[in-house]
Amino acid sequence: MLKNDQLDSWDRENFFHPSTHLAQHARGESPSRVIKTASGVYIEDRDGNKMLDAFAGLYCVNVGYGRTEIADAIAAQASELAYYHSYVGHGTEASITLSKMILDRAPANMSKVYFGLGGSDANETNVKLVWYYNNILGRPEKKKIISRWRGYHGSGLVTGSLTGLELFHKKFDLPLDNILHTEAPYYYRRANLDQTEEQFVAHCVAALEEMIDREGADTIAAFIGEPVLGTGGIVPPPAGYWAAIQAVLKKHDILLIADEVVTGFGRLGSMFGSDHYGLEADIITIAKGLTSAYAPLSGSIISDKVWKVLEQGTDENGPIGHGWTYSAHPIGAAAGVANLKLIDSLNLIENASSVGGYFRSALADALQDHPNVGEVRGEGMLAAVEFVRDKDSRTFFDAADKIGPQISAKLLEQDSVIARAMPQGDILGFAPPFCLSREEADTVVAATQRAVTAVLG
Ligand code: PLP
Repeated sequence: MLKNDQLDSWDRENFFHPSTHLAQHARGESPSRVIKTASGVYIEDRDGNKMLDAFAGLYCVNVGYGRTEIADAIAAQASELAYYHSYVGHGTEASITLSKMILDRAPANMSKVYFGLGGSDANETNVKLVWYYNNILGRPEKKKIISRWRGYHGSGLVTGSLTGLELFHKKFDLPLDNILHTEAPYYYRRANLDQTEEQFVAHCVAALEEMIDREGADTIAAFIGEPVLGTGGIVPPPAGYWAAIQAVLKKHDILLIADEVVTGFGRLGSMFGSDHYGLEADIITIAKGLTSAYAPLSGSIISDKVWKVLEQGTDENGPIGHGWTYSAHPIGAAAGVANLKLIDSLNLIENASSVGGYFRSALADALQDHPNVGEVRGEGMLAAVEFVRDKDSRTFFDAADKIGPQISAKLLEQDSVIARAMPQGDILGFAPPFCLSREEADTVVAATQRAVTAVLG
């Protein structure tokens, strides 16, 4: 076995890490972490340090680590048939079965699944399909996509543009043309503190209406949103938000893409966020929870309404010019089938709902009276704590103080618990595996309280 110091220097010399301060890492100023194994909600590094992963990797290892049912399904698929493509009508038992399992669980108006590898490429597919759809319908001007500030939809060219976080645009010449951003449904950060939740929703709707009027509804193809804002701060929508937004979209014949990369397959305690909030999406993006990250796989679930136009398009133009070598990869599909079976057999969505609720209220009880805790929020097995300099005036800390990153570092250092400092604002995010127990939830809450006290007093 390689010594850890050897791996450390190879890492710094050779490995381009995503979402990392490249210069600091290369200079050895930030830790390199070599993860070796994992089980349940715990991961372990090469030095034998065990950590409770209260963010399930990147909110993706939903069934927890070390599930042999999925590992065995992957191994069996790799031995029997590691790969065949899915172009021109080819498939495998795994990819066909998984399509059916997804449609059996999806909202009733959904018709077909296109498979990709990750959330970014799935949203890239969605934008192409929406453009194709409007070209087939003879509306070549109807192409703009509306996203929200603080939305996260990936980091490709179009998807990085859809993402409404500055870090993902800066110096990359993004966003591209034809991508617009409207108000984030972030009640806690509303500009006008006197607004009630209802008034704030009316404000979000008015901002959207105004954008549509300004741009012209005949130029706007789709609206994309996560049922609960994820990377932008783990923010559940204010009451009535989705119903009000959908009414506007319907009125202007604008498609709705529900990005359920985080919320799909149980994270909110419901199968889909669309079920949870009554979204009637035209396309649903899925990824992370589809395989619980045991293998890369994503999907675009396409509604009947869109599918009919895609069929018409191929009758008029020939086969659809969209596809990747690894679309519906059999190993990913086998992982997906085993993962969805496990979610059912272990009743994990029910656990996400009940232990998630327990966890969130314990977190609120422990922290909400702290003078620097502005809000404790979440839904299902998804939670966040937002820190402020002053609670009454709702003044935020300077970004340079790095309060969120300091607290997450302290949490790891003191109690070996992983929570994520969300990239914009001082927000500590939690998205544990669905199998979290109440005792493990208590451990996370107590450790968080200690970390907050250590950093903020
Ligand atoms: N959409 C949402 C809602 C996400 O949270 C993410 C990733 O966190 C993506 C899309 C992009 O997925 P990926 O990182 O697999 O490309």
